[in-house]
Amino acid sequence: MTGRAVAAIPVPLFDLHEQHDALAAELDAALRSVTDSQRFILGPEVRELEEAVAERLGVRHAVGCASGTDALLLVLRDLASRHGVSGPMSPSGDTPEVVIPAFTFFATAGAVWNAGLRPAFCDIDEETFNATAHTIGARVSARTVMAIPVHLFGQMAEVERIRGALDVALFLLEDGAQATGARRRVGTVEVPAGMYGDAAALSFFPTKNLGAFGDAGMITTNDNGLADRLRKLRVHGGQKMYHHEFVGTNSRLDTLQAAVLLAKLPHLDGWLDARRRNAALYDELLADVEPVRTPVVAEGSWHTYNQYTIRAERRGELRAGLAEQGIGTGVYYPAPLHLQPCFRTLGYAPGDFPVAERLCGEVLSLPIYPELGEERVRLVAGAIRRFYKA
Ligand SMILES: *Cc1c(COP(=O)(O)O)cnc(C)c1O
Repeated sequence: MTGRAVAAIPVPLFDLHEQHDALAAELDAALRSVTDSQRFILGPEVRELEEAVAERLGVRHAVGCASGTDALLLVLRDLASRHGVSGPMSPSGDTPEVVIPAFTFFATAGAVWNAGLRPAFCDIDEETFNATAHTIGARVSARTVMAIPVHLFGQMAEVERIRGALDVALFLLEDGAQATGARRRVGTVEVPAGMYGDAAALSFFPTKNLGAFGDAGMITTNDNGLADRLRKLRVHGGQKMYHHEFVGTNSRLDTLQAAVLLAKLPHLDGWLDARRRNAALYDELLADVEPVRTPVVAEGSWHTYNQYTIRAERRGELRAGLAEQGIGTGVYYPAPLHLQPCFRTLGYAPGDFPVAERLCGEVLSLPIYPELGEERVRLVAGAIRRFYKA
């Protein structure tokens, strides 16, 4: 193709059509089998998916729920109730605290608050964008009951070091929403995201590594008691109809979504390989572009690139320049959570977490979806090179 023809192809930040078109017949059949059965609420596909995910991750239990946000919230609510807390947080000095990164999607912090617990924000590592044993450890207090490392952009946080920095009694909840399929070498074994913590939250939001036709989420854990309580929490706090051991909610994984996810699961590894190929090509093509820093992969980490996030000088101008050429980008995230208006009462101030605050002005996520392919990666990288040469 000529340069002109290539430049005319717009490159969206993500495009779900190609993946869908390739599997449309399979997915239609999966949906059709649910509609034929009319078993919409906790139909057999939900349990099948739970078992498939549990087996893949090597955990005892997987509990489907309505979204990744709810996966976090249900675990947090269970912990909160064991600390005598119920309902959204009302700021007071002795509210139990949960350490979370200041640089993540809002859901991590919102779930803590909605469970009645106090978010204790921490800074992140500027290379991996993740909270570390050091940044989390620095925020642990006598009131800390849990830490939530987030596997941001598809790369696992250093879970084993974080575990080592925490008192054994503290609950470790992995926010694996962006990292389904990621792994990390711990000692001599490869640990998948969602296996190492006391529990983990996964999201199947359509643009995550494994995406449903809407909202869906899952909790993984090896804790029998917790799994049992979560299965009740998602159906109003009881196993038997009209007998409620505690106050739960309605947060079931929809059977139609489970059927879609079951059909997609066998393709996950291929999609992750494709994301990684796209990332490797960006790494190569952008290596000598001085004003751009490509993502850093930690030693022993198998990154899944749910986002390919660079740090760019003159980010705003670059982003506008790419948009003019039909290239979509995203800013995840433009503001750190400790400075969000809704958390004013927690008393944070600019300067509290300098790395998180600085990165909010530098990060830019490039198109990386599995079907993107070499030609479009070259087009995006070429446009970035030209921007900085001009
Ligand atoms: C997407 C996401 C969530 C929430 O998942 P939903 O399924 O959208 O509710 C939580 N945490 C992180 C880090 C996420 O990226």
